[in-house]
Amino acid sequence: MIYIFCAPSGSGKSTMVKHLLTMHPDLFELSVSCTTRPPRGQEVHGKEYYFISVEEFQKRIENDDFIEYQQVYDGLYYGTLKEEIDRIEAAGREVLFDVDVKGGMNLKKILGDKATSIFICPPSVEELRRRLEGRGDTSPEMIEKRLAKASVEMEDMKYFDRVVINDDLTHAFEQLDAIIDENEEDRN
Ligand code: ADP
Ligand code: 5GP
Repeated sequence: MIYIFCAPSGSGKSTMVKHLLTMHPDLFELSVSCTTRPPRGQEVHGKEYYFISVEEFQKRIENDDFIEYQQVYDGLYYGTLKEEIDRIEAAGREVLFDVDVKGGMNLKKILGDKATSIFICPPSVEELRRRLEGRGDTSPEMIEKRLAKASVEMEDMKYFDRVVINDDLTHAFEQLDAIIDENEEDRN
């Protein structure tokens, strides 16, 4: 099984993915995307992202190396390498994707029943702003861009297999754990 996590930036995708990786370190592995944005804070090449140049990204597009890619924010490319899914499946693990809403919908179209798409819904746009400001790693200008995009992304929530409302964190984890348990039971 493959899980695709999507949400407006700041809604809690990374927090949900980290929860699953902590609870089930031998079951799941995060698909590491390529990006042309520079590392933020303590981010490490090969862990959070493969940080590559625009030239290298374009070469990879020409080689048809990506299962999916998007220009998520002006000028910045993000994409998933086909070889990343092969690498994780060869290790016997289930793949977790943390991608933007359009990318997630494209992945779901390509992967079909192999994947469960999960939309992480913030309690409100005001709370989203508070979380992005609280994270302290995004400029005020970028926060405004992400909030403007959030309103549009929320309209696509209906296309997802499952929705987790990330209001209270403990409650959100419970909703997520229930989805995983249900999927695992269906397969046994
Ligand atoms: P995303 O990966 O979707 O951009 P993050 O997981 O980085 O979002 O979450 C954004 C910020 O909000 C982080 O500082 C995170 O610790 C915080 N956060 C996540 N979920 C909650 C929650 N339920 N209540 C309060 N803060 C939260
Ligand atoms: P950030 O710059 O905050 O790490 O990520 C910005 C957005 O890009 C997030 O919504 C993240 O999920 C998304 N993203 C990360 N990797 C990919 C990818 O491979 N494809 C797509 N479409 N979006 C991605």
